[in-house]
Amino acid sequence: MEIFHISAECYPVAKVGGLADVVGALPKYQNNAGNAVRVVMPCYDTKFKIENHFECVHWGHVKLGSFNFPFNILKEKTNALGFELYLVEIPELFNRKEVYGYQDDIERFLSFQIATLDWIIGREDVPDVINCHDHHTGLIPFMMLYCNKYEKLRNIPSMITIHNGLYQGQFGFDKLYYLPEFDLAHVNVLEWDNCINSLAVAIKCAWAVTTVSPSYLNEINYSANGLESLLNLVRYKSKGILNGIDIEVWDPDTDRMLEKNYSIKNFEKGKQENKEKLCSLFNLDPTKPLFSFIGRLLEEKGGDLLPHAAALALSENFQQINILILGSGNTTIEKQLNSLLQDYKGNYNTFIGYNEELAHLIYAGSDFLLMPSRVEPCGLNQMYSLRYGTIPIVRRTGGLKDTVVDFGDNGIGICHDQASVGDVCYSIQRAILLYEDKQHLNKIRKIGMNTDHSWERVCQEYIEMYKLIINKK
Ligand code: ADP
Repeated sequence: MEIFHISAECYPVAKVGGLADVVGALPKYQNNAGNAVRVVMPCYDTKFKIENHFECVHWGHVKLGSFNFPFNILKEKTNALGFELYLVEIPELFNRKEVYGYQDDIERFLSFQIATLDWIIGREDVPDVINCHDHHTGLIPFMMLYCNKYEKLRNIPSMITIHNGLYQGQFGFDKLYYLPEFDLAHVNVLEWDNCINSLAVAIKCAWAVTTVSPSYLNEINYSANGLESLLNLVRYKSKGILNGIDIEVWDPDTDRMLEKNYSIKNFEKGKQENKEKLCSLFNLDPTKPLFSFIGRLLEEKGGDLLPHAAALALSENFQQINILILGSGNTTIEKQLNSLLQDYKGNYNTFIGYNEELAHLIYAGSDFLLMPSRVEPCGLNQMYSLRYGTIPIVRRTGGLKDTVVDFGDNGIGICHDQASVGDVCYSIQRAILLYEDKQHLNKIRKIGMNTDHSWERVCQEYIEMYKLIINKK
């Protein structure tokens, strides 16, 4: 089967969050399972672009209303990632350091989508299926169905995978003229809440809709930033497929970013050495339990709870625990977190920013990982931490609910129900007690390390979904 994945992120080419991890791993496992898999993404100014070799396989011009942007399709020459990688090079729009956050993001991602389809229709063969990821690629299913110049793709099934339904890529009808020509009888398909909503368009037009966990699919029927009723309507073509993790990239036995590699056989010693490294880097106490957080410092991640929960937990257990925060996002939260540095020196520290290497060391060297999320479509951090023998402390929501059972119910983590400071602190108290019972702690860690979250198992579910829509042709 020839599968195209179209995405704004893909690890290790460009990563902001979990979307990159999924698009960097799922295609590799699909390829290994005997499919011909291509990943298409924008060409940003990243280290990967500079350090790897590409050949130009197609070029053209994107017409975006009165703008005209030249583009190239660059193929990575060696297939080193385990699948064919294609970068859509539109220098004027993408030769920048960041993936998102520019005023012209609508123009950027619309041009990317048009250039991608222009190239695909110019190829000799058409793909069997096109898997779009999140709102940045949400207009593709519409354009395939209705734009005159993409008629060749009308019968090709498309699928939208929703990694995060909070972001929807809305823009005004004043930009309607950016879209390639289509029969205006279909213009209502573009509309949701008085604007063009890229994610809503994908949900309407794609032949199948998947979310990255079953529980998240249930939750967005009640709470999806305005898309609830639409998601209810398309339930018949929707499925929640739990993400996997790339067990080759995330393996404490081979991970080059760690101070000390370890496996299930020697994890106690291995984790301690990584913890000592972390503690020396951040002036923490390696003899005390270490609670960490890795992620975007936003309300959806419960980031706003962290400063208060950390202050309360540290003052109640003064000098009995360590807390380390890695992340960036809301500047108020960042400031609040940094304001605690002075009071809890030696037991608390932060790294405000993004640091892949440090994240790996934290998964390995921590005892507990905090995930107080309000919304968590799947969450990968809890699966990485389990694989590294670190116990996740999660709020029961979305994918966290699907992957972490409380140790009180014979599970592998610590769970609470409310996104509240009180619930987070109560879980920290339970963790401190568990930490004192080393035998029990290590038993849980071992079960966590043995849990299979590999893509090998999961990627077949995607293939089944593709087959289902291909058969509908
Ligand atoms: P998201 O909603 O942000 O996509 P996920 O749990 O799905 O959340 O994935 C987050 C990914 O991003 C993980 O690989 C995590 O390690 C990584 N990550 C998040 N923030 C940072 C950071 N500040 N530094 C390094 N890695 C980070």
